Amino acid sequence: AKRMGGGRALMTTDEQAGEEESAVNIESALRDALQTGGLELVYQPIFDATGRFARVEALVRGRGDYLRKVGPGAFIPVAEESGLIVSLGRWVLEEACRQMADWRERNLPVFDFAVNISARQLVQADYTDSVLQTLERYGIPPALLHLELTETTLMGDFSAMARIMKRLSEAGVLFSIDDFGTGYSSLARLSELPISTLKIDRSFVMKLLESEAAVGIVRAIVNMSRHLRLEVVAEGVERPEHIKLLLALGCHKFQGFYLSRPLSPEALEAAAFAGDTA
Ligand code: C2E
Ligand code: CA
Ligand code: CA
Ligand code: CA
Repeated sequence: AKRMGGGRALMTTDEQAGEEESAVNIESALRDALQTGGLELVYQPIFDATGRFARVEALVRGRGDYLRKVGPGAFIPVAEESGLIVSLGRWVLEEACRQMADWRERNLPVFDFAVNISARQLVQADYTDSVLQTLERYGIPPALLHLELTETTLMGDFSAMARIMKRLSEAGVLFSIDDFGTGYSSLARLSELPISTLKIDRSFVMKLLESEAAVGIVRAIVNMSRHLRLEVVAEGVERPEHIKLLLALGCHKFQGFYLSRPLSPEALEAAAFAGDTA
């Protein structure tokens, strides 16, 4: 529908038609999932240099076969396009807080948790209040929450986003820049934002062992983060050699399939809290 009247693509290939159709299907499946409890969260641990859990990142999943097959890498962009991301994002924060509160209530050691957010959520008029109210409702200190934003998110209305981030940050909420290195954020801009963490995009980590350029990029990010006093997390750690090299480069937090896949709450409890309930 978007192409109509634009005159840019007069011919629709089968492939494009296929993509469009599935975007429509994805959108309706998402809408349905949001109304019927068809989403769930999994949690991927982030480890420190001593091998301890530092944090978990909440990642959304569909419960049904269709959204499960599509995966968040494909349905999140559709949610962003359609505006459903606002209600999806609300659900994700609510559910993550509910889970953290449950763990706290049961006296399980609870760590920081990270939630991914999209630009469209951040600039909602009531975003700051709704985040702080949700945390308060579940009795969760704001300083346990990390909001992960991608670099490209910051290409929107920068001053509006900076203002919202500043308010949340003054309340204690932390911010991470996700997929760092893939966008175009300048040092100057970054230093204007209340950011605590850079997450090095997994494409660099995965190329570390074959590419001198990737090593150089990771080294540059780590050095920069030192000057800006930011924590660095390496994503996409798939091999033990990655950790060795990353430690040598000065990176001290790790996330990836080698250390742990994203886990259901039950599996995370078993892995993290075993024998730790006293
Ligand atoms: P992301 O925020 O960069 O999340 C990390 C993704 O990398 C996750 O994919 C995770 O499963 C995957 N991953 C972790 N370790 C490794 C590894 O060692 N190797 C490889 N190849 N992959 C690894 P997932 O869960 O499919 O999520 C994809 C993207 O969907 C996320 O990328 C994020 O941008 C988006 N997303 C997921 N949940 C949410 C959400 O609740 N809200 C928003 N706005 N976006 C979300
Ligand atoms: Ca993320
Ligand atoms: Ca990422
Ligand atoms: Ca990503």
